[in-house]
Amino acid sequence: MSPRPGPGFVGPGMGRGMGWGRMRFEDSKQRPQISKEILIRILKYLVPYWKQQIIILLCLLAISGLDLIPPIITKNIIDVAIKNKDMALLGFLTLASIAATILSGLISVGQNYVTTWMSKHIILDVRNQMYRHLQYMSLKFFSNEKTGEIISRLNNDIHGIEGIISGTLVNIVYNLFSLVLTLTALFSMNWKLAILGTFLVPFFVLPTRQVGKMRWRLASETHQKMAEMNQHIQETLGISGVILTKIFTREEAEIKKFHDINLEVIKLQIRENMVGRWFFMLLRTISVLGPSIIYFVGGYLVIKDELTVGTVVTFVTLLTRLYGPVSHLSNLHVDITRSFALFERIFDYLDREPDIKDLPEAVELPPISGKIEFDHVYFSYDGENPTLEDITFSVEPGQMIAIVGPTGAGKTTIAYLVPRLYEPTSGRILIDGRDIRTVTLKSLRSQIGMVTQDPYLFNATIRENILYGKPDATEEEMIAACKAAQIHDFISSLPEGYDTVVGERGIKLSGGEKQRIAIARVLLSNPRIIILDEATSSLDSHTEALIQKALEALLSGRTSIVIAHRLSTILAAHRILVIDNGRIVESGTHHELLKNNGLYSILYREQFKPQLTGLTDSYLA
Ligand code: ADP
Repeated sequence: MSPRPGPGFVGPGMGRGMGWGRMRFEDSKQRPQISKEILIRILKYLVPYWKQQIIILLCLLAISGLDLIPPIITKNIIDVAIKNKDMALLGFLTLASIAATILSGLISVGQNYVTTWMSKHIILDVRNQMYRHLQYMSLKFFSNEKTGEIISRLNNDIHGIEGIISGTLVNIVYNLFSLVLTLTALFSMNWKLAILGTFLVPFFVLPTRQVGKMRWRLASETHQKMAEMNQHIQETLGISGVILTKIFTREEAEIKKFHDINLEVIKLQIRENMVGRWFFMLLRTISVLGPSIIYFVGGYLVIKDELTVGTVVTFVTLLTRLYGPVSHLSNLHVDITRSFALFERIFDYLDREPDIKDLPEAVELPPISGKIEFDHVYFSYDGENPTLEDITFSVEPGQMIAIVGPTGAGKTTIAYLVPRLYEPTSGRILIDGRDIRTVTLKSLRSQIGMVTQDPYLFNATIRENILYGKPDATEEEMIAACKAAQIHDFISSLPEGYDTVVGERGIKLSGGEKQRIAIARVLLSNPRIIILDEATSSLDSHTEALIQKALEALLSGRTSIVIAHRLSTILAAHRILVIDNGRIVESGTHHELLKNNGLYSILYREQFKPQLTGLTDSYLA
């Protein structure tokens, strides 16, 4: 597993090292190390595209070769055509020079297309791989990770690696080719002048590297701030966030907070842009200095008849072409480190094994009759503090068990363990006598239906939401499910019927409507086991009656575990489990439990009895 980026990627703003105004940068300890393993992993993404890479290489070789032709032609124009007053040769050489430039341009368009195509396809591969991986991560991962961070890695980081492929890699190759070809040309023309011209090269390398490092640091900080900004947008402009902001009239506070983050991002970006401008000024001076020296020394040699004017002019042209690749290549380390940082963040997610997955020997769970057994189940969210302890109970096929208890007792956690959304720390859960860890997740979950307190609906049509559980269901099946869930009449009364878009998280629907749509969705997929977390909010008597009927359709003939908040449900349950502090403290029927005079009777008096409407006390007691 690769190390998590943590502070290594962001790094504190200050440290020892060279000062640069307010900005300091630290030594390479803070930056991700370029390791062989990561390099090999990155290269693996390139392997499928080896054909494109050969084309790109050939193109780059051709471009850097063709780019040398005009300066060399210039030498012949000056030394031969002009000197001999040969008009025909002058015309031919000029045309040849133009042709070489056009050809190089055309090849570079083609090379750009192939590079873009390839890098986009690598992005496609990585992004799909990452999304697939995330889809199979367990709930634990998503409850620990920030959504903004996930989006940032899936979008920005993966987008960032495109730049590496189309920019960095191509630049390395092109600059290497250019450097070697230009140096060969320079030395073959006049080695003494060549040494004179290249002795300035180290002056390019050093400052460029330092500036590059500083840029890297600022870019990382910007990156982190951008992720923060994403998170802020995500939290405050999502529907739940918007409601919260409005209710607490925190709009101005959120605007201010956003403004601050936004400002920090911009400040960092300005600094990133400005950093090293002094160095670049110095570089420009040096790049003028080199040619001046060559003109001076070369001019002297021309005067002494040891060199031609054409050679000096071509030499200077070639020399200026040398400095670009040199500064690019000396900055390479920074570019590569930056790329590695992005890849590390991507690999960090890819390396996290889903903690709940099929065992290699997992088998299909055949169609079940629906017996559920918890056998001394223990569970902890953090591996330290127990959330559930020694939970043992069983539900016969077709029976309903109600779970009641104070908030935070562990009721939801018990419900989540059945479809293996979390895994017990110890103990077993059996369905039809089989340990659920020995069967495939798909075959297990496809036989379990779940309706949560605040059911999640996608921002799509009602039809799409209902068909989510069984995309191939017929119109008749869907309508039958909606009728059973007591929601068909409501949907039909909408102007757009089943094609009504529900808004983000179903905001356009009432709680009761959302619940009945969720019930219809589960009914349509027709599972043998139902996990139901009843809504706590009280509803008007008409809606209550509708929900009641919908639940009857949902629960009848199926095994169910219901986190009960309604009197009618606990009365209908075959058995009630009373949970407190992660343990089963009582269990039995309503009448048995009332007689016990324990926690249940307290809950009953405080929570359930007030719901009493038509039923008499004597019936209940
Ligand atoms: P209930 O449904 O009875 O209200 P829960 O099963 O939701 O209780 O929670 C039981 C305990 O586990 C609570 O103390 C809660 O804070 C804790 N808990 C719930 N979900 C998580 C989670 N994802 N990570 C860590 N602790 C959690």
